Amino acid sequence: MTHFTDKVAVVTGAGSGIGRALSVELARRGAKLAICDVDTTGLAETEALVKAAGGEVRSDTLDVSQRELVLTYADSIADHFGKVNMVFNNAGIAFTGDVEEMSFKDIDRVMDVDFWGVVSGTKAFLPHLIASGDGHIINISSIFGLFSVPTQSAYNAAKFAVRGFTEALRQEMKLAKRPVKVTCVHPGGIATNIARNGEQVEGRDHDKLANSFDKMARTSPEKAAKVILKGVEKNKARVLIGADAWVLDKFVRVTGSKYQGLVTSFSKRSGL
Ligand code: NAD
Repeated sequence: MTHFTDKVAVVTGAGSGIGRALSVELARRGAKLAICDVDTTGLAETEALVKAAGGEVRSDTLDVSQRELVLTYADSIADHFGKVNMVFNNAGIAFTGDVEEMSFKDIDRVMDVDFWGVVSGTKAFLPHLIASGDGHIINISSIFGLFSVPTQSAYNAAKFAVRGFTEALRQEMKLAKRPVKVTCVHPGGIATNIARNGEQVEGRDHDKLANSFDKMARTSPEKAAKVILKGVEKNKARVLIGADAWVLDKFVRVTGSKYQGLVTSFSKRSGL
């Protein structure tokens, strides 16, 4: 028996990276999985891995930015399994560009997936998590939800918003004595496809951006999944992943708003 045995866990963005690693690790620990993603091919690969790990799994193609579909999906998962215990709102996209260069459409797209996708997943599943009597919402923010960097304003905005939303929800669940725990996750650089899958404004070199990310992303998605599940077991309010996340979190808290000047100098030197 583990903390996750026979729990029904939903993972969005399960077709790659952290979502895939979480799905496989949850299956190994005895959870029943509902996995979803826009990427049908990646999702099918994850489904096969979950089955190989001995997990019961239902797999659905879902775009988390389509609110009505997320609402229908939540009801259908609750019907299928008879309960929902955990929701990992993990699906996310990256986008690079200065505020001056980005269109409203670029910013909307990031907010629609990275922020509104999390809000929809949370609201859609919350009644089912409460009804289970033993629920947990895990929202994936980022270290970019703790401090801002040039070219990431939209992503920063979405991830700061996820953090604010999630921290308030945790307090509300406690105040209302709901049987739902809430955890906000802030990964540092995790070696996934996020930068390669990401987009950027015209004139920015996609490969250069992805290669720089690959050099900085030191933690494996498998390690990230284990750290997240440890945080879930301990009902942590905040989970930081990787030495970079710990160092940068401290750096921002110690320097206060001065971090902004230091980050600006770093990005000027690194050319990012
Ligand atoms: P990834 O690109 O490997 O996986 C993200 C998955 O989300 C993909 O399978 C993609 O198809 C899916 N997805 C994208 N848009 C979707 C949508 N509209 N609906 C459903 N699925 C969608 O990236 P990852 O690194 O595993 O990212 C997972 C989460 O972790 C994201 O929220 C990301 O912002 C966050 N994060 C990642 C890092 C990192 O360094 N990799 C750091 C901090 C936070």
